[in-house]
Amino acid sequence: MSALKVCVLAGDGVGPEITAEAVKVLKAVCAVRKHELVLTEGLIGGAAVDAEGIPLSPATVEKCRAAGAVLLGAVGGPQYDSLPSNLRPEAGLLSIRTKLGLFANLRPAKIFSVLKETSPLKNSIIDNGVDILVVRELTGGIYFGEKGTTEVDGEPSAYDVMMYSEYEVERIAKVAFEAARKRNHKVTCVDKANVLESSKLWRRVVTRVADNYPEVELCYMYVDNAAMQLLRNPSQFDVLLTENMFGDILSDEASMLVGSIGMLPSASTGHGTLGLYEPIHGSAPDIAGQGIVNPLATILSVAMMLRYSFGMEDEASAVEKAAEESLNYGRTPDLANPAYSSKSTAEIGDFVTARVSEILK
Ligand code: NAD
Repeated sequence: MSALKVCVLAGDGVGPEITAEAVKVLKAVCAVRKHELVLTEGLIGGAAVDAEGIPLSPATVEKCRAAGAVLLGAVGGPQYDSLPSNLRPEAGLLSIRTKLGLFANLRPAKIFSVLKETSPLKNSIIDNGVDILVVRELTGGIYFGEKGTTEVDGEPSAYDVMMYSEYEVERIAKVAFEAARKRNHKVTCVDKANVLESSKLWRRVVTRVADNYPEVELCYMYVDNAAMQLLRNPSQFDVLLTENMFGDILSDEASMLVGSIGMLPSASTGHGTLGLYEPIHGSAPDIAGQGIVNPLATILSVAMMLRYSFGMEDEASAVEKAAEESLNYGRTPDLANPAYSSKSTAEIGDFVTARVSEILK
């Protein structure tokens, strides 16, 4: 097995704390399974602005390209809020995704049974289990289309164009069907085909791609209905495939089903195996440096990295199992529950590290 090359971009706020715990877990996996691990580090976001004057330097991009996977903490902080948008930490994040050609964003939202009580949904709604993978197109659509301001009949107006090529839809659809094949064999394509031309194109292309995956069930749902169904009957979903803006909104909605933003990992992938793995939350400046941030979203992002970039299903499952077990050992304050003892970021990281080593031995 060739070495696992991972570039760590800790970023700002709680970024260094959560990536430190995730790296501990990764080192344990590699030590037990005798995989060579090569770690490099780079600057991104506010940390890069402070040191290099820009939120993402070409040197950091090169380090990421030389790696097999990138582990990112989070970027941003109030001290950078007054910077022009091209110098803000978040610009580094958008830029690294584009520069690495990461067009697919995968966001699992799974309710661990021990966390049922933290979900805002009633037990009767989530009793059948919630295990959704949102596959969101990440580099096209309305966020990247032509935009501007104009005047219509003397009235100040603005526009944003939502455009997709068949190629863009086809490549993300394949990601969704491949994922469904390894999960529960169902893809729900979410669109607004009753109104939007771009959605009609999505349906045409997704239907065509589905022909190559006869073992995967395909169904369609309008985005307004999908927003409702996520709260009414989330168990019906397996893989939820959608375009950039719908995915942005629905994946945040889906994440809330789980109860804490500190539990949700994500992966951004492209054509090759290089992927970027990060928690879905931000830099949480309100709790940075206090040792109380929940590291599990970042640790679960390492599980996704092992699965998607390095093809190590066994190791990925072990990390997920250890992370789930940590919820019985203790919890960080975002998951506070009098029935469980309160633990620090490092204590949770240490528990998962020790447990994953035992599982993989
Ligand atoms: P946030 O996700 O950082 O925090 C929202 C709330 O959730 C805060 O109260 C925070 O303490 C809490 N929280 C977040 N992650 C947690 C965790 N792992 N454990 C426990 N509690 C956690 O969002 P925000 O406050 O809106 O943004 C803060 C900064 O992060 C801003 O500068 C924003 O632009 C940036 N941001 C970055 C990313 C990213 O790097 N991907 C994503 C979102 C926001």
